[in-house]
Amino acid sequence: MLQFVLASHNNNKMAEMAAILSGLDIEVVPLPENAPEPEENGATFEENALIKAKSAAAFTGLPAIADDSGLCVDALGGAPGIYSARYGEGTDRDRNTLLLQNMSNQDDRACRFVCAIACILPGGEALTVRGECEGELLRESHGEGGFGYDPLFYVPAYGCTFGELPPETKNQISHRGRALRKLRKELEARM
Ligand code: IMP
Repeated sequence: MLQFVLASHNNNKMAEMAAILSGLDIEVVPLPENAPEPEENGATFEENALIKAKSAAAFTGLPAIADDSGLCVDALGGAPGIYSARYGEGTDRDRNTLLLQNMSNQDDRACRFVCAIACILPGGEALTVRGECEGELLRESHGEGGFGYDPLFYVPAYGCTFGELPPETKNQISHRGRALRKLRKELEARM
């Protein structure tokens, strides 16, 4: 089994990645607690994912996988985008409140979740894949599930928000699920 280190301390991401990559000759292992946290100073999701994957590969000597994701709102020129986790101060709820304030005069509610995944392969080659999921930004929260901007992210095809969808359904249509399935195809083609 070839080990890949996942450049994240998030157990949910570990589980989702392990599930989608199952059946391949790959074991996903967590990043050691003492690994350095690189500065995410890239200009795109792909650049930030690559920064994290390269740092994890350099620290562990293993092939590495990292992701970077966020919500892009058309009427805000793509914000919060790569700054989604750092939008405003405080909690997820505070970030949602700020986003609703900044969108209060906007009729165009189109937005999308974006996820880039970067992978440093055993020979050192780097690859990136991207998954997106289109939605509309509601004017108030709906649903208690998920995290982050999920309760504001309305998916027309399902008639509800990410915060109201069961996790399995969200994983099927989400930006992260889509990017992970593309990664699986890329790895399958190379192994
Ligand atoms: P990260 O790539 O895990 O650091 O996520 C960046 C930020 O984007 C998170 O802190 C959330 O604010 C937002 N985000 C990314 N993916 C999702 C999602 O699936 N649901 C809700 N918010 C998300």
